[in-house]
Amino acid sequence: MVEDINQQEESVQSEYNFRLLADSMPQIVWTARRDGWLDYYNQKWFDYTGMTFAQTQGWGWAAALHPDDLQQSLEAWMYSVKTGEAFEIEYRLKQAPDAIYRWHLSRALPVRDEQGRVTQWFGTSTDIQNEKFAEQRLAHQLSREQEARKEAEQAGMTLLQLNQAQRNFIAVISHEFRATLTSIQGFSALLRDEDFDASETREYADDIHTDALRLHRMIDNLLDLEKIRAGKIKLSMEAVDLNALLKEAIERTRQISLWHTISFQRDERLPTIEADHDKIMQVVINLLSNAVKYSPHGGEIRVTCTLEEADVHVSVQDEGMGIQPDLLDQIFIPYSRIHSAATQYIQGAGLGLPIVRQLVEMHAGKVWVESELEHGSCFHFMLPLRLPIIPSPANEIDDMTPVVPTEAAFHQTTTSDVASSMRG
Ligand code: ADP
Repeated sequence: MVEDINQQEESVQSEYNFRLLADSMPQIVWTARRDGWLDYYNQKWFDYTGMTFAQTQGWGWAAALHPDDLQQSLEAWMYSVKTGEAFEIEYRLKQAPDAIYRWHLSRALPVRDEQGRVTQWFGTSTDIQNEKFAEQRLAHQLSREQEARKEAEQAGMTLLQLNQAQRNFIAVISHEFRATLTSIQGFSALLRDEDFDASETREYADDIHTDALRLHRMIDNLLDLEKIRAGKIKLSMEAVDLNALLKEAIERTRQISLWHTISFQRDERLPTIEADHDKIMQVVINLLSNAVKYSPHGGEIRVTCTLEEADVHVSVQDEGMGIQPDLLDQIFIPYSRIHSAATQYIQGAGLGLPIVRQLVEMHAGKVWVESELEHGSCFHFMLPLRLPIIPSPANEIDDMTPVVPTEAAFHQTTTSDVASSMRG
């Protein structure tokens, strides 16, 4: 009997000591029955949550949790109670004075009897808001660093492309320009040194003229591209009958394509589109000229024009040499030419497609290509029927020479360009 009383006194004393210790701790301390019912909280809990024991005993603590963390916390606690495994979870707990949720790490361990059965749970909840912040800051910093690295890589790529473009530019200037000048020098030396009859003289003079036009056109293209890229070109918008424009471009190309048949599939539903007539003509002529140039053995060139909802889709398909799949991305980069046995006798400066792309994009359109090596290529472009308003620095272009050569000059130079390239 006396032993019982002593044991009871000891137990009360130990309970008192535990509570004293728990209340002096900066953390929230709690205990629970083996069935998960919370039966004790230290003072810190009441100070923090502002709740009474009656409100939070048992499962009442759930009311202080952030709604997004509740389900997971309940499940984790029920799992520990069922299995006797240690409980550990992070959740946000509402702070009474300002109703702000702060992150807490909650842990509980089971107390077992001699048979190993859980008799009670002893738990703590520690404020880890500052650590969480640090973690988030670190994650944010890491993602910023990753972004910065990506940007740096992209800048590096652009720089690489720029360097490549510069190398290409020098290669084109030294090769194309020199080849054309050599040809002019050769023909003019012949005229100077030999006695030709009138018709032979005219033929050589014509060759010199053609080469001079080629040089002129190369320089024009070079300047055009730079002006377009610098945003110094203004679109002169009007209602354009694209079917008629394509027909005219095809007629012009037919005159220089001796070994090709050009078919045209027009879309009668197509209304007039809002575009710069001359610049779209330049786009189409460039694509048609390439279709002729890069199918030196002839074949069919198919032009199609299709209305697709609020856009018009034009494609120019040839049966020529095609393009290696891994080089498809490069051909729109200024001065890039594909060097192969098939292209070695075809003249060009690698400026046509970059100009096409810039002009199409100025019309809020897009251009792309599909190609199969040795089977032909299909160049596509898509334009909106109505152009969104594009700001243009109108006052900057007043002193500029026109970008697009005059109709006659353009026709002449393009024709001779292709014709001379066909001569090799
Ligand atoms: P250029 O014809 O003056 O070299 P482009 O910018 O028009 O310049 O074309 C770039 C490169 O793309 C060409 O050098 C050629 O290798 C390739 N290319 C363009 N059009 C075709 C085509 N229809 N078929 C095959 N290759 C083409």
